[in-house]
Amino acid sequence: MESMNCLFCKIVANEIPSEKVFENDNFLAFLDINPVNPGHTLLIPKHHVSNFLEMESQSIEGFFATLQNLSRKVKDATAADGINIMNNNEEAAGQEVFHLHFHIIPRWTKDGLHHWQGKPYESDDERKKLAEEIRNK
Ligand code: AMP
Repeated sequence: MESMNCLFCKIVANEIPSEKVFENDNFLAFLDINPVNPGHTLLIPKHHVSNFLEMESQSIEGFFATLQNLSRKVKDATAADGINIMNNNEEAAGQEVFHLHFHIIPRWTKDGLHHWQGKPYESDDERKKLAEEIRNK
């Protein structure tokens, strides 16, 4: 179902242009307009859903099979050394377009991008407490 004023729904409906690289009944992939590296691809469900946390569980298996297949193709086509698969959920996590999408980003050994910097736990207690809270949910 198309959502009014959703940029990616408009891409699905061909109301705004995109460089499509894959399409089937349920999913669409196209090149990111502002790529981290050449070949940076976005995979989306055609059906509007705001982010991965909201995705219906019955769609996940097909989506991930497509994501893996497409990631292999992007890696082959770009002759990348590796691939980052990323997904931002909510504004605080960097989500800017609120229609679920996974980023497939080709990586090269010397592409100058860096891994996230880790922030060590302040104590063993803090780490154990957080693990316990997640286990208990
Ligand atoms: P995120 O920050 O995870 O929401 O990522 C949104 C992504 O959408 C960014 O990488 C943008 O460059 C990309 N993007 C925004 N508008 C377009 C567009 N019209 N066509 C293709 N990619 C787009």
